[in-house]
Amino acid sequence: MRLRHKPWAKEKLMQYPQYVIQNPEDYKGEWTKAFSNENPIHIEVGTGKGKFIVGMAKANPNVNYIGIEMQDSVIISALDQLIEAELPNLKLLNIDGSNLRNIFAKDDIERVYLNFSDPWPKNRHEKRRLTYKTFLKLYEDMMEDGGEIHFKTDNQGLFEYSLRSFSEYGLLLKFVSLDLHNSEFEGNIMTEYEEKFSSRGQRIYRCEVKYQIRG
Ligand code: SAM
Repeated sequence: MRLRHKPWAKEKLMQYPQYVIQNPEDYKGEWTKAFSNENPIHIEVGTGKGKFIVGMAKANPNVNYIGIEMQDSVIISALDQLIEAELPNLKLLNIDGSNLRNIFAKDDIERVYLNFSDPWPKNRHEKRRLTYKTFLKLYEDMMEDGGEIHFKTDNQGLFEYSLRSFSEYGLLLKFVSLDLHNSEFEGNIMTEYEEKFSSRGQRIYRCEVKYQIRG
């Protein structure tokens, strides 16, 4: 997502520590303290402007959400929505998702959402895709046994690659749609990219995969 640079964004993010966690490493292994309850925690890596994660937090008050976005000029829009909605079950992290190992411990997370992740189409950039095997291991190491990844994209190549990557990793396929908006799936909350691409008539792909419980 390319946006105009907003030099004031970093400072504004720091002015709302109740919404934008400033020292996320301090919560490793005890994220329930950040929410003051024991509800399950779902994260979105690459939250963008936050339409999806804010919508999910409004729709599901008994789930805690964390939106992770590395660009401060982008996540600032999610903060603006959060200030407006005053949601106690949503926190934001302005960090690179490849650093998650320093921030979450095993069992901290129940579910990971990946929405319209950057496709990195060149073979030599495969390792940057958020569905590459090293990311799948990263998510597994912070999730509860049987945790899930829910993934949406408009990019057929990335979707096919990701299904292969999930399968080779040993993830179980729970749900797949090759045309989400013309399927019977209910309760879909759209992302900014999803609105843009679907309004141009592009198909949206979606799947849910589950980690096997290792004995
Ligand atoms: N999910 C949003 C949507 O569907 O509208 C945004 C999609 S945009 C194509 C991808 C976003 O992921 C960008 O804002 C980018 O900065 C962010 N992103 C990519 N890699 C990331 C990473 N490793 N950690 C955190 N954010 C990342």
